[in-house]
Amino acid sequence: MLEVSNLSVSYGRHRALEGVSARVDKGEICVVLGANGAGKSTLLKAIAGIVRAETGSTVVMNDKPITALKPHRIVEEGIALVPEGRGIFGDLTVAENLRLGAFAARARAGEAETLRRIYALFPRLAERKAQIARTMSGGEQQMVAIGRALMSKPDILMLDEPSLGLSPLLSQELFRALAEVAKTGVGILLVEQNAKQSLKIAERGYLIENGHVTGENTAKALMNDPAVVSAYLGGA
Ligand code: ATP
Repeated sequence: MLEVSNLSVSYGRHRALEGVSARVDKGEICVVLGANGAGKSTLLKAIAGIVRAETGSTVVMNDKPITALKPHRIVEEGIALVPEGRGIFGDLTVAENLRLGAFAARARAGEAETLRRIYALFPRLAERKAQIARTMSGGEQQMVAIGRALMSKPDILMLDEPSLGLSPLLSQELFRALAEVAKTGVGILLVEQNAKQSLKIAERGYLIENGHVTGENTAKALMNDPAVVSAYLGGA
């Protein structure tokens, strides 16, 4: 469904990504692992059109090239990003934040139904519809951010470190919710520090080092790969 090939991104003279290829299929959860500064966030931002990919890079969504499109056009093609730090509107209520997610033309039909499904996925949000978003806990704010992205009815949901700062229990709840979303056919591209929990719900994963993909395998194989264990799973 989503296919990235030969993707390169530079910030000034610094090459953050070089010749990266990756794909995410329908209903699949794909994890991106890598050290700080490896280029993981840049990968998501380049797919979302927030940073510019260099000539020769291609991003194809449902067989359509979307490489040079503006971010809002990429949302219309079915890709939503939950950025690191969530980016929700703190002064607005939970319901208002969610409604803002439905700005895309593709999201307007069936908006009420989409909202109903998001409240079913995160009952806490249904209980707190009228609460000002910034007064929600970190985990609840992450739910708002994911809910808002889902309001655009994406085929691909990308998340940048969604479990950052969450308690183990809340992270577990979050990963459970992502697995639910994938079951509905949405492909998920997940950048995570929490390699253990994310590999548990994922089908496949990519390793990124210094802007290059240095490994790709099934989640199961990655969990048993000694190099992955020592680098991302806290030793043997
Ligand atoms: P982290 O886990 O620390 O967020 P990351 O793997 O997501 O790391 P990126 O944020 O993609 O890494 O950054 C890749 C490289 O590009 C880093 O060296 C970073 O300093 C650099 N970089 C990122 N954004 C910019 C920017 N706007 N301007 C200049 N350099 C940048």
